[in-house]
Amino acid sequence: MGCSRVRAAANRLGTSWLLIVLGVVVLGTAGAGALVGLVSQAHNQAVSGALAEARVFARLTVERDVTSSAMASPLTSAETNDLQGDFSQLSTSRELVGLEVWRPDGSVLYSSGVDQYALVSGQELASAAAGRAVVRFENEPSARTGAPTAVVEVLVPMPSVAYSQGRFVAGELIPSGPVVDSASWANDRLALATLVGIVLAVLWLWGLRRRLRAQAYQAWHDHLTGLGNRALLDSAAGRALADDAEACLVLMDLDGFKRVNDTLGHAAGDELLGQLALRLRSSTRPGDALVRLGGDEFAVLMPGIGAEAAQAAGERLLQAASGQFVVRGVLVDTEASIGVAVAPGDGKGLGQLLQAADIAMYQAKRGKLGVCTFSRASSDVDAGDLELLAQLRTAIGAGQLRLHYQPAVALHPRATQLVEALVRWEHPKRGLLGPGLFIPLAEDTALIHPLTAWVLDEAVRQCAAWRLDGLSVAVAVNISPRSLTRPGLVELVIETLARHRLPASALHLEVTESAIIARPELARQVLHQLRARGISIAIDDFGTGYTSLVHLKTLPVEVLKIDRVFVSHLVDGCAERAIVSSIIELGHGLGMELVAEGVEDEATLELLRALGCDTAQGFHISRPMKSDDAGRWLSRRADGLDFASTGPALRAS
Ligand code: C2E
Ligand code: MG
Ligand code: MG
Repeated sequence: MGCSRVRAAANRLGTSWLLIVLGVVVLGTAGAGALVGLVSQAHNQAVSGALAEARVFARLTVERDVTSSAMASPLTSAETNDLQGDFSQLSTSRELVGLEVWRPDGSVLYSSGVDQYALVSGQELASAAAGRAVVRFENEPSARTGAPTAVVEVLVPMPSVAYSQGRFVAGELIPSGPVVDSASWANDRLALATLVGIVLAVLWLWGLRRRLRAQAYQAWHDHLTGLGNRALLDSAAGRALADDAEACLVLMDLDGFKRVNDTLGHAAGDELLGQLALRLRSSTRPGDALVRLGGDEFAVLMPGIGAEAAQAAGERLLQAASGQFVVRGVLVDTEASIGVAVAPGDGKGLGQLLQAADIAMYQAKRGKLGVCTFSRASSDVDAGDLELLAQLRTAIGAGQLRLHYQPAVALHPRATQLVEALVRWEHPKRGLLGPGLFIPLAEDTALIHPLTAWVLDEAVRQCAAWRLDGLSVAVAVNISPRSLTRPGLVELVIETLARHRLPASALHLEVTESAIIARPELARQVLHQLRARGISIAIDDFGTGYTSLVHLKTLPVEVLKIDRVFVSHLVDGCAERAIVSSIIELGHGLGMELVAEGVEDEATLELLRALGCDTAQGFHISRPMKSDDAGRWLSRRADGLDFASTGPALRAS
């Protein structure tokens, strides 16, 4: 656990810091190395500069004035005067501040008069007499003022006055300032350049760190509200739910957020979400992970909150989310529905916990309860369903969903052929599952949204491919009640059509009466928006719901699909025949096209034709087929051949 914490912390913050520390260490080492090199180079240059100068002075003084006879006897007064004169000249021009001449045995032959060489050791003298110059930087008292002066002491062996015992040695004191200055000038520039380089590199590293931090921030946060995102929730859950620790997950969905978007515009919707995020933030504790999952869905993972405190936590958030907001000068009332699930009881991992909270949230929404805590007893979902739901979550991404297509045929000649896309799940262990086994589960959670998006995308893609192959076909897609009123459906449909270059007229959307009854006004608005963009709307399973005729008149519906419970007993049931015939009459009266579902035999087909039904769909015409089979079926139809096909059998739904 400790390890994973360190890793998580390193992941969240470490990369940029690590980079900076590494960069500073590398740059610091390189810079310090360069500076040490420069200092030693400056010293070496000063040493050779001083030596060269001392050699010139020695040539101008000692070599010129001292002869070999000085080996045995002291200097003549003329020699001494000459030396003194030469030294004075150089001393006056401040080029030389002291001069001494030693014999090879170390005895002094001449001294300019200052006792500057008290510190010259016998070893240094012997070394110089043997031909190896000695250079030493010192502070000596000035010959004139006695104040300490920075000088270079140079012992120069005299080549021209050499003997078998060794050489005369000229000891010179040279002011070190000019020598050191000229040597360090070039190095100063190099040092400056190095320093500038280091500063620039540090600035670049700093900028890089800021960019990396910004990227890391984006990866973990929602750009609109500044709250965390799904990745952050995953990471927080990894820590909070480890070792079966107690934690509560609160899932929140705003009620009527779409209305704000529709009436005040998306920018206002965004502003509302931003304000709401601030309120939620102030109602959570520092250790809670507050994230926006998308749209108007928020989640808070609260470590350490158990079952007894969970409801209160949900209510606190509900209070924060419900109330009035001023958006663009308009007073907006908000309400929310909240589902609460508690780990480890309701789920051990984040996936299970999200599902449980999602189910509770949907119950809260349906029952207008505000906050609803997940409880297995009160949910209709048993453990097996929960497991299936968890598997379905991954099935969509794992490519396990399939679409089968069931054609509908016109009973009176028509141009465009229609096929209905029906989803199946190729379950790795349970085989091909029919929609009845998993659609209702998905519909109880937000999972229906990615499922709808997938079906829509795949159906539109397939239809576009068939049309490219020259088949004049349109596709019908079933839209769940929950997806119909979810913000963004219209945009999703338009974007999907555009991406696959399918005209809107080639797409039909089927919605059930229950979808419309659940939120009539909102459903009506969405259907109008879809219809305005050229998409056909069909009411599925018509006759089983309670759509009021008044309401039906206001809906932009083009097709009524008569439920198969009436159609399947058409031939032998008087009541069914009366119902079907009045639905046909009613639909035609409202200018709609009538489709009969569940046509299983020729007699029913003929009766429907006689009753004036426009289109028929059912096993007698064709079972739902895989896309390849459906393509072949459509080609045969296009070639004027008759239909005959059976689709694969499904596990009972
Ligand atoms: P639906 O939209 O009314 O689809 C027609 C259902 O009736 C299909 O069942 C089809 O196989 C079946 N059917 C067609 N002809 C006959 C027939 O002659 N006799 C009998 N007994 N049945 C016939 P399926 O594929 O099991 O779909 C069941 C329901 O699942 C669909 O009813 C639809 O409400 C839902 N569904 C299927 N695919 C999707 C989808 O992609 N999204 C959503 N939200 N719901 C879907
Ligand atoms: Mg349908
Ligand atoms: Mg139907």
